[in-house]
Amino acid sequence: MCGIFGISDNKDASKLNYVGLFTLQHRGQESAGMAVDSKGSIHYYNGMGLVSEVFSNDMFQSFQGSSAIGHVRYSTTGSSNVNNAQPLFFNSYLGQTAIAHNGNLTNAAALRTQLQKQGAIFQTSTDSEVIIHLMAKYHRATIEDTIADNLNKLEGAYSFLFLSPGKMIGARDPNGIRPLVLGKLGKSYILSSETCAIEVVGGEVVREIEPGEIVVIEKGKLKFKKFGKPRKTAKCIFEQVYFARPDSVFSGRTVQLARYDIGRLLAREMKNVKADIVSGVPDSGTAYALGFAKESGLPYQTVFMRNRYTGRSFIQPDQKIREFTAHLKLAPIKDVIKGKTIILIDDSLVRGTTSKKIIKNLKKAGAKKIIMVIGSPPITNSCYYGIDTPTRKELIAAKLKTEQIRKFINADALHYLNLPDLIKACGNNKDKDFCTACFTGKYPTRTK
Ligand code: SF4
Repeated sequence: MCGIFGISDNKDASKLNYVGLFTLQHRGQESAGMAVDSKGSIHYYNGMGLVSEVFSNDMFQSFQGSSAIGHVRYSTTGSSNVNNAQPLFFNSYLGQTAIAHNGNLTNAAALRTQLQKQGAIFQTSTDSEVIIHLMAKYHRATIEDTIADNLNKLEGAYSFLFLSPGKMIGARDPNGIRPLVLGKLGKSYILSSETCAIEVVGGEVVREIEPGEIVVIEKGKLKFKKFGKPRKTAKCIFEQVYFARPDSVFSGRTVQLARYDIGRLLAREMKNVKADIVSGVPDSGTAYALGFAKESGLPYQTVFMRNRYTGRSFIQPDQKIREFTAHLKLAPIKDVIKGKTIILIDDSLVRGTTSKKIIKNLKKAGAKKIIMVIGSPPITNSCYYGIDTPTRKELIAAKLKTEQIRKFINADALHYLNLPDLIKACGNNKDKDFCTACFTGKYPTRTK
């Protein structure tokens, strides 16, 4: 999964882009990069690490332009190295272009082989590079027409940003699997994976880019264009479940409220449950737990101290240090836990190994019983669209029944949210157009 952010027609484009990318940091921590349009010439800079590690104060003195696009990366295809950091840059018949991609192209391998047979030389191992070769090979008179024609050859999930001299262009896949939002800041336009980044830079959200829509921003004007055959909209429901920032808006309401509602619906499903306290696995589980506590009348308590500094910077060079990792990330608060029956809510259960460790730690700290509650249905299928779920055989719910999973994680009870309630909460009681393939196996596109 990745985050993309672009801003047009602003003398502080690169600095505002930095702030936007910083806000989207939760969407990818492996690499970051930015491309700017500097008086009709595209310059770019990419590096490994967090946004604050890649960009320095000094570099902004020379790295300026009127428009900028940027990217934060978490790799799901292609290895984690600087070669695969985005934006990618190419110079073709159409001139200089930089691109930033969020999502996963399911037919990238087939297209790559076909293009290589025809002589294309790939520089990276990312799926995103295929669009560069397609655009270089099959071009039309304008870059926007070239983009529209070639996006039709892609399958899977994508939101793209393109930057060429004088133009910033955004595009969203025909199913709308990955998000892309348009914002405005004075005379500048913004394109962002999430609304939170538009608001943090002081902008206003205009609207979502529609599935199968291209927006061209040129000389301060917007031009919209549809491409491809209309398809059934299938927005990734996992954005609300886990991925997106709580202050971002999806389907007309903040993610925080969707998660809070999921908690309330869980409490309704579990009306007769008896417990002393309700708590959540940080961070996303907290909003679920607050909703559950409100609906059930049970007290909410924080049962873990979360260490905020154990991200990718926490090195795990040997077994001795690795042994401390789980406890170091989430340390149980003993006095709150001792002798209590705890309803513990997490957003999802993937392999089961993390829940098992958490429950073991809570019981060791004196918890009487753990009622494990999951804010989404059992994950039985892998994601091919850019969320990093493991292969099907590593997904615990693809192999075991709920009672067997309960035993494996050593919970005293285990309850999952049902799919209609998940859709109800995430769709604000109106929107039902979600991809739910990891729960149902019904994929909205070809997966190969
Ligand atoms: Fe999102 Fe699951 Fe669909 Fe992947 S399969 S896009 S994680 S809902």
